[in-house]
Amino acid sequence: MPSITAGRSEGRSPHHPRRNRTNVGAMTVTPDRHTPTAAASATSTASAPAEDARPAQDAPGIIDRFVNANRAYAVDFRDGGMDARPVQKVTVVACMDARLDLFAALGLELGDAHVIRNAGGVVTDDTIRSLTISQRALGTRSIALIHHTGCGLLGLTEDFRHELELEVGQRPQWAVESFVDLDGDVRQSMQRVRTSPFLLHTDDVRGFVFDVHTGLLREIQ
Ligand SMILES: [Zn+2]
Repeated sequence: MPSITAGRSEGRSPHHPRRNRTNVGAMTVTPDRHTPTAAASATSTASAPAEDARPAQDAPGIIDRFVNANRAYAVDFRDGGMDARPVQKVTVVACMDARLDLFAALGLELGDAHVIRNAGGVVTDDTIRSLTISQRALGTRSIALIHHTGCGLLGLTEDFRHELELEVGQRPQWAVESFVDLDGDVRQSMQRVRTSPFLLHTDDVRGFVFDVHTGLLREIQ
C-alpha cells in the first residue's frame, strides 16, 4: 500500500524531507479517540461491499495512521511564511483518483497552487465556487484541468443516481457527471470554465488527460 508520507517531491522540496515510516509507526495516538471499528456505522447497503467485520483488535486504522504520520510530519515542518495566495497563481482541477500525485506530476511545491479535486475532476457549480474564490479573493489567474485514463466515472452512468434514489428514497441534487468520451469531457470542462460569468481570468485555461500507466499528460485542444 502506498505510503502517505513517502514519494512526495523527494529530494526536491525543503519542505518535505522524506520521513522514516518506522518512526511513524512507533508513535502514539490521542487516547480519547473512538476506535475505527466503533466509529464504523454500516447504514448503507447500497454500492459498497461490507468490510466492517474486522476484529476490534486490528492494527490501527488508516485515520489513526494519519494522526501518527502527522506528528512525525510536524517535527520537521518549517513554516515557509507564505500567505494563502498561491505563489504560481494557478489552480488545478483534477480527479480525486488515488493514482494522481499532482504535486509530483506537475512539479509543484508547497504553496504553489490551489488544487480542487472531485470525482472525475469535473467542473460543477461547487468547482466554480472554489475557482471564483481562488481568482477573486486569492489572486490566481491560470487554470489546469486534469482528467485521466482509467477513471472510475468512465464505467458509471446516470443510472447510478436513479438506483441510489430507489435505495434511499431521496433524489440526489447532484448529477453523477459520468462520461464515456474522456477527451470530450475535458473539452466540456474547459468550456464550462471559459464561459463562467464569475471568473476574472479565462484566457489561460488548459485541459489534459493524465495517463496512469505512463505518468504523462496529453493536452486536449
Ligand atoms: Zn478519475
